[in-house]
Amino acid sequence: MEKVTGKSIFKGIAIGKILFYKKGEQSVKRIRIEDTKTEIKRYEDAKEKAVEQLNELYKKAVKEVGEMNAAVFEVHAMMVQDGDYVDSVLNIIETQQVNAEYAVAITGDNLSEMFSAMDDDYFKARAADVKDISERLVNILSGKESGKNLGDDPIIIVADDLAPSETVQMDKEKLLAFVTEHGSSNSHTAILARTMNIPALIGVNIREEWDGKLAVVDGYSGTFYIEPDGQTLSQMEKQQKEDLEAKELLQKLKGEEDITLDGRKIKLYANIGGVKDVTGVLANDAAGIGLFRSEFLYLESDDYPSEESQFQAYKTVAENMAGKKVIVRTLDIGADKQADYFNLDHEENPAMGCAIRICLERTDIFKTQLRALLRASAFGNIAIMYPMIISVDEVRKIKEIVKSVKEELDVNGVPYGDIEQGIMIETPAAVMISDLLAEEVDFFSIGTNDLTQYTLAIDRQNMKLDNIYDSHHPAILRMIQMTIENGHKHGCWVGICGELGADPTLTQTFVEMGIDELSVSPTFVLPIRKIIREIKARKND
Ligand code: PEP
Ligand code: MG
Repeated sequence: MEKVTGKSIFKGIAIGKILFYKKGEQSVKRIRIEDTKTEIKRYEDAKEKAVEQLNELYKKAVKEVGEMNAAVFEVHAMMVQDGDYVDSVLNIIETQQVNAEYAVAITGDNLSEMFSAMDDDYFKARAADVKDISERLVNILSGKESGKNLGDDPIIIVADDLAPSETVQMDKEKLLAFVTEHGSSNSHTAILARTMNIPALIGVNIREEWDGKLAVVDGYSGTFYIEPDGQTLSQMEKQQKEDLEAKELLQKLKGEEDITLDGRKIKLYANIGGVKDVTGVLANDAAGIGLFRSEFLYLESDDYPSEESQFQAYKTVAENMAGKKVIVRTLDIGADKQADYFNLDHEENPAMGCAIRICLERTDIFKTQLRALLRASAFGNIAIMYPMIISVDEVRKIKEIVKSVKEELDVNGVPYGDIEQGIMIETPAAVMISDLLAEEVDFFSIGTNDLTQYTLAIDRQNMKLDNIYDSHHPAILRMIQMTIENGHKHGCWVGICGELGADPTLTQTFVEMGIDELSVSPTFVLPIRKIIREIKARKND
């Protein structure tokens, strides 16, 4: 048995034979051509065919891995038609009187070398793209099929590196895992591997003589076993079986409705902290996003994130959720979530400090976020939610600001969607006036994490008090009940997005109370769906 390690891109176990994948090594010959006009026509035809292929690939990838990940093929289609690239090929054919394959290969080599030498990481990464499109053109010109036939049996692909187009063209049914020597964890191929749920390792020193041998990819530890011994194999098989059983059991629930035995539908949504978490939301089949903690965009940044960068993030999430609800909570900074550039004064009790109040004080920051959100709402089903509310007055002020931002957008002819607005109920004050607050907004989302800390007067960060931080306290449960009743009486739907929403021991209680929505971490979606489908909403029925 040989054992090598790498960096894991996606967890999971794969067991199968290795296929050592060599790039279609194109030994392109230089052939002298008399009739350059015909050669140019051959190239133009190949270019057209390449664009057609890439458009098809784009459509296939959108279906399989979503618009965002498929975008690389749009970029490739543009590169094939790029003026500099085309001019270089035509110039080589004409001036050197050579075959189109050679002109394309030389252009590809020259441009990719140029990109590799650049300092900017973005352009460095484009070197692989130029090579990829040049290979495609050469394949078309020489009548070779693009994509490699993987044979009939499922295999583990071992390769130096994989281009995204190679990855997406592979038959997913036959692909057990990827192991590559090069490629970064943020490369498109790594993103595709994650999105396709395929165990993958990068940074492995690969060897061609492994071809055809039995191997195991352990995506948990990042280990690649070649010709595993009996003990390793049975251990890995056991782990794989357990993974599969657990997954299968829950997978059966994908596509199923979140509905109780007596017919009450619950919105089962997921919580996210950033764009990259959407994959987990989709993989776990959540019906929407119930809490996008937008402050992470601020915490990841060294300065206030621009309207444009926020717009792109919200738009991407909305587009990837394809019409499903995406509730974005506006900036909830303060307490444990601090960003230096806000230059906040020292607070004795930051958990009871500025928080949302910053947005009402520094409306410039708030308006930037609202503009980004409203603009993004033209691309999907975005709703906006405001944290840490304690009064009707605050909500009215916020709504005034939103109105003024909408008016600005109207003046500039910028489109936006018909957004729902809601508030978090996470202070005892908000619970006690929830009847009045419900008149102002479309929905409530109960933040049980903060509601527990403020109701029980226990700092949620204080590890010493962890054993008495009790979200099941009757006071909390009564507050949840009261919020639901007041919300419903005054026309609001009510959800829970705090951690308690994912507590399986309380799902029945919440449903009986009349909760409309539960928003939980993506991995809890299917376990909670299972419970919802096994219970009744009405007691004693
Ligand atoms: C909450 O307080 O319950 C909540 C969902 O918000 P956060 O945990 O981000 O404060
Ligand atoms: Mg909170």
